[in-house]
Amino acid sequence: MQRPRSLYLHVPFCPQICPYCDFHKLRRHDELVERYVTRVAWEAAREAERSPGSLDTLYIGGGTPSHLRDDELDLVLAALTRAFGGLGARETTLEADPNTFDRARAQRWRDAGITRLSIGLQSTDDAILRFLGRGHDARAGLAAIDAALAAGMIVSADLIAAVPGQDARSDLERVAATGVQHVSVYTLTIEPFTPFARRGVDVDDERAADDYEAADEILSAAGLARYEVSNHARAGYESVHNAVYWRGDPWLALGPSAAGFEAPTADDPPAVRGVRTRRPPIKAWLAGVEPERTLVDGPTLALELLMTGLRTRVGVDLERLRARTGIDVEERYRAQLEAARTRGLLARDGVRLHASARGIMVLNAVLRPFFAAEAELEGSVEHAPRPSH
Ligand code: SF4
Repeated sequence: MQRPRSLYLHVPFCPQICPYCDFHKLRRHDELVERYVTRVAWEAAREAERSPGSLDTLYIGGGTPSHLRDDELDLVLAALTRAFGGLGARETTLEADPNTFDRARAQRWRDAGITRLSIGLQSTDDAILRFLGRGHDARAGLAAIDAALAAGMIVSADLIAAVPGQDARSDLERVAATGVQHVSVYTLTIEPFTPFARRGVDVDDERAADDYEAADEILSAAGLARYEVSNHARAGYESVHNAVYWRGDPWLALGPSAAGFEAPTADDPPAVRGVRTRRPPIKAWLAGVEPERTLVDGPTLALELLMTGLRTRVGVDLERLRARTGIDVEERYRAQLEAARTRGLLARDGVRLHASARGIMVLNAVLRPFFAAEAELEGSVEHAPRPSH
């Protein structure tokens, strides 16, 4: 596996805590942020020592990274620049809450080397935004997009679909009209132990499927083609960083609860094809607790790569997958592939395996027999993790 050329930094501080969210987040206070910034600088230097060289992509996510003050973000960017000789050469993304910036601040970020803002718009309807517990209203959300575009940023707007009472078509039409280069549409999911789960908020699966189709229809008509199950972009504006996750390339992680993916070390057993790392939540992270390492063998990695790659328009390069995992998918899952092909859910085009439009919608069900076959072959197998936040 090549050395990681991408880095994910987790900033856990948020201006409000949304009732559907299960990410690692907390409210800020200055002393805690100061300790966080110091520790990030230390971690960046250490990671750069372990994996020297420049970065292609840097993704600063959270949490709400734009909730850092200018001086705090400057310190973080300076530490990353010192460690890696610069920010992402191809792409540097910052997740931003609409209430945290105006055009001047976006311009400041642009001057500091941020090239892309991922803005948590979520909806353009005030009632839905209130239901989601967001701190901004529709006017502030749309104004933030205008400000970011005017500052010369590439802008990705995040929308949440299938929210009870939402008119998703109206949200999609309004966001398409803003001129953003990228839109991510995520179905509301009710995660265990969140306030929404406790309140019994329910997501209607049919509604989610309708919103998914509406996203494809409305955004494609506006020139934003779907290139991954939740992501739509104008040509040339697809996320370079997220493609690293979907292809199963390695990336470094910094910050509390951040997840990374790395090559095995010489001390790992020979069957290991990759190592998932997960840093602890902030208290343990500040105390210096090391990341947890999960060893991934060839068959597990092959299933993970099918799971993420088949959600993308480019599909999965089976030759590359074989080189990475040692697994010949055609041979190992012959019967399962044949069944999915016969039903028009998967198709092969040269070395690439693709899911059809219908196949993508029911991908978990399409791949279930692959996992079952693997469990029979190996005794047990881990399921693919959620993509990193
Ligand atoms: S959804 Fe975003 S802004 Fe809301 S609590 Fe979670 S990380 Fe923070």
